[in-house]
Amino acid sequence: MLFPLKGCIRIGSSRGAVTLAQSSKKARFEELTREVDSCCACGLGAGAKNRVVGEGDLDSRVVFVGEAPGRREDESGRPFVGSAGKLLDRLLADANMSRDRVFITNVVKCRPPGNRRPKREEVEACSGHLERLLEIIVPEVIAPMGNSAIGHVFERFGIEESVIGDAHGKPIRVQALWGEVVIFPLYHPAAAIYNRKLLGELEKDMLRLSRLLVGV
Ligand code: SF4
Repeated sequence: MLFPLKGCIRIGSSRGAVTLAQSSKKARFEELTREVDSCCACGLGAGAKNRVVGEGDLDSRVVFVGEAPGRREDESGRPFVGSAGKLLDRLLADANMSRDRVFITNVVKCRPPGNRRPKREEVEACSGHLERLLEIIVPEVIAPMGNSAIGHVFERFGIEESVIGDAHGKPIRVQALWGEVVIFPLYHPAAAIYNRKLLGELEKDMLRLSRLLVGV
């Protein structure tokens, strides 16, 4: 059973402990970070102040995947630190999931100029980094946020294309290299900042995700 605990949210993954010792995960993550820092597989790297591999608990059961770093993320080297990040922090806290116990990353690790959507060839060039990150963390749930991340994750796992208005909040079970994974699509927090309807949907979806993690 994927989500055996009831009554509390166990965000740390037991599968992670089985497949990779924490020290090995940390070493592999550091190696991945070094590779991303010197990557020039697409043009985005040339304009990046900092590459943003992601941050959080390498033993987390859930990995949140956004589209790309923005200006604040590019400056700090950390994911989701701007206004969308503040909203994500609040949503996580309201759903009983603290930021430091989940893992947060993006589809591409370098900021596209002017915060434009990453091009298909940039997503393809960077996809290996996300693959390796997921293989290190071995999450039970992958939560792509926004159309761009959902499109990439759906394609990666062979899920039929869908629009976010239909797909959000609906878990889809797929097979990954390390076992069964639930894909749980979410609206991107940036889209919900000034849209009360989307914010309400995102709040409800986060609570659904939280209940999924406790097996309710
Ligand atoms: S976005 Fe990804 S593939 Fe492109 S340069 Fe940055 S790390 Fe490399």
